[in-house]
Amino acid sequence: MDVTPFWLAGRPETGTETFAVTHPYDGREVGVVAVPTTEQVEEAVAAAHAVRDEAAALPVHVRADALTHVSRRLEERLEEIARLITAENGKPLMWARVEVKRAVSVFRFAAEEARRWSPTTQRLDTEPGGVGRLVYVDRVPKGPVLGISPFNFPLNLTAHKVAPAIAVGAPIVVKPAPATPLSALVLGEILAETDLPAGMVSVLPVPNDRASDLVDDPRLPVVSFTGSVPVGWSINDRVPRKHVTLELGGNGAAVVLPDADLDWAASRIGLFSNYQAGQSCIAVQRVYVDESVHDEFLPKLVDSVKGLVTGDPWDDETQVGPMVSRDAAERVESWVDEAVAAGAKVVVGGTREDATYAPTVLTDVPDDAKVLHEEIFGPVLVVQKVSGVDEAFAKVNDSTFGLQAGVFTRNVDTAFRAHRELRVGGVIIGDVPSYRADQMPYGGVKDSGVGREGLHSAMTDYTEEKIMVLTGL
Ligand code: NAD
Repeated sequence: MDVTPFWLAGRPETGTETFAVTHPYDGREVGVVAVPTTEQVEEAVAAAHAVRDEAAALPVHVRADALTHVSRRLEERLEEIARLITAENGKPLMWARVEVKRAVSVFRFAAEEARRWSPTTQRLDTEPGGVGRLVYVDRVPKGPVLGISPFNFPLNLTAHKVAPAIAVGAPIVVKPAPATPLSALVLGEILAETDLPAGMVSVLPVPNDRASDLVDDPRLPVVSFTGSVPVGWSINDRVPRKHVTLELGGNGAAVVLPDADLDWAASRIGLFSNYQAGQSCIAVQRVYVDESVHDEFLPKLVDSVKGLVTGDPWDDETQVGPMVSRDAAERVESWVDEAVAAGAKVVVGGTREDATYAPTVLTDVPDDAKVLHEEIFGPVLVVQKVSGVDEAFAKVNDSTFGLQAGVFTRNVDTAFRAHRELRVGGVIIGDVPSYRADQMPYGGVKDSGVGREGLHSAMTDYTEEKIMVLTGL
């Protein structure tokens, strides 16, 4: 099999070592990727550092044209890249295509946002000492960015690191997840087609045991990390003087209140607890259903879960495919078995075949079970009956995580109450916590992270205000 090169300061390179990428569904080899040497990593970081002033000074039309080019090329190569994502990650083709479409939008939004990104002014003559003065406020890049992305959305979450960096004129070094580097490397190839300065983007599939060198490097003062809670916070602790954005895990909750459209709620919760085999940070893991509608809702939910097409990710109809590895599916199996041993009931699912875990609904789960309190990151949903909004919101908040929550209600007062009281980064009214539009602010509180992504938010994160006071006006 040909070796896939990595992208060092805009050019393809191979190192002295390689690693294999395997397909989660059948374990076959789907790629062989070149690993950068320590010297090559040094060259990429030095190039990003050297080009930082040139990148910051790039005219907006150059940045926006580059972003538009990437968006267009991703769209042209949509099917090929979707197949690569399915090969490396195992997600069904239908979701891999959605992921590429989202990345197309991310680069388009970034081009639009780059054009809107402008300095502001503020008059200072509100006080006598400020008469004849004006302050001009621009946002300038904090410096080159280190973007570290996870396996579950290998293209789009890499796009969320790269596109805002280009939009503000910040160089970026990307480290994709070792299980899923192939789509990020195609992104590197497409980025190399643009007129951006060579050192502005590198995509380096560095193994985990060498990733800390990048994290520690003072020439990369911004770290944008998406991944698991322990790794994320350990990075934050390791480099307290850097600007660190953490997009980490969750155990997403949905609340179903008596005024909800139960059919809609059941179909959305059924799908989005199993979407990506549950391997989404905002998958629905917990559902709190008001006791007055619980018995009507549960069969609808079970029907929705039973109706999901599970199996071969290459089949156009498949909605739920394998998890990223057999190990991951075995971990989910052990957590469910543990809950069952403690009294939980399996309403549907609860079985595993290799890396595929069946869409599963659990009830009667004890309050201290792992499947409730930790991030299951698999196709498992826990349903609990609650008595009213107070109890439902208290249960949602009874979590160390705080990414997003969904509240199925049609009452505007309850909606605003949810927004006030739920300790999460985002409240989704009338839908699952799994809803994410790529242009909106996105991120968590508590263990789920710090900082926000979404084009404008990430651009703000990557930059800092720099002022100039004009005197004598
Ligand atoms: P992970 O933490 O194992 O890996 C994430 C990235 O960090 C990978 O690129 C990995 O190679 C790298 N990494 C590992 N050790 C490192 C180290 N010591 N220093 C620097 N980098 C290191 O996570 P994963 O299994 O790839 O992804 C799943 C996790 O990501 C879940 O917890 C999920 O909830 C979370 N996630 C969060 C969001 C969000 O936006 N909040 C989105 C997707 C996934």
